[in-house]
Amino acid sequence: QEANQRLLRYQQQLERMARLDPLTELANRRDMLERLEQEQKRSERAASVFAVILCDIDDFKRVNDTYGHDCGDAALIMIAKLLRANIRTHDLAARWGGEEFLLLLPDTDAAQAATLAERIRAAAAAMTFAHCGQLIALTMTFGVSMHRAAGIHACLKEADLTLYQGKAQGKNRVVLFQAGLAHPTPALP
Ligand code: GH3
Ligand code: MG
Ligand code: MG
Repeated sequence: QEANQRLLRYQQQLERMARLDPLTELANRRDMLERLEQEQKRSERAASVFAVILCDIDDFKRVNDTYGHDCGDAALIMIAKLLRANIRTHDLAARWGGEEFLLLLPDTDAAQAATLAERIRAAAAAMTFAHCGQLIALTMTFGVSMHRAAGIHACLKEADLTLYQGKAQGKNRVVLFQAGLAHPTPALP
């Protein structure tokens, strides 16, 4: 029985690890995809809405090139903490790719999501952190999209498109996807 319990604990630990990004300890892409599927079903049943925010650190390659890869890693951990500190308990933050993060915001409309993204943008831009005697600052760009009938993959594509637009417009900004418009528009001045 003791051996069985050890095995069960080990299995639970493995399951947790399979859903976690080891560097930032945020959810990983796999966990986020599952949560998006669940939220899609839940929101249909509850007739509620949800939004996603896709964000990416600006000029992160320069941070690595200038201060080293360890410093880049420390910056990723710091941004993960900032994201975690700014979301509610039933929201989810995940490391979506290298220096790209995705937030899932249940019961949140586009305007509310854009307001949150703007708050995180401003906090990231205002923050500096010390690493190996150097003071480092960075900015982030945000694409915001609301889930609609087209489904989560369309929603992710829209967030990606708006993020890309934000980069093209000069970075360090929030862009909100608006259905029916050919081009996304900046969410806030
Ligand atoms: P942009 O503003 O257009 O997003 O430019 P960027 O430099 O942030 O984007 P680019 O895609 O050119 O470079 C991303 C960099 O992120 C390159 C890659 O080495 C770095 N990166 C990805 N994952 C990690 C990681 O886990 N640790 C560190 N230190 N760097 C990482
Ligand atoms: Mg980047
Ligand atoms: Mg990127």
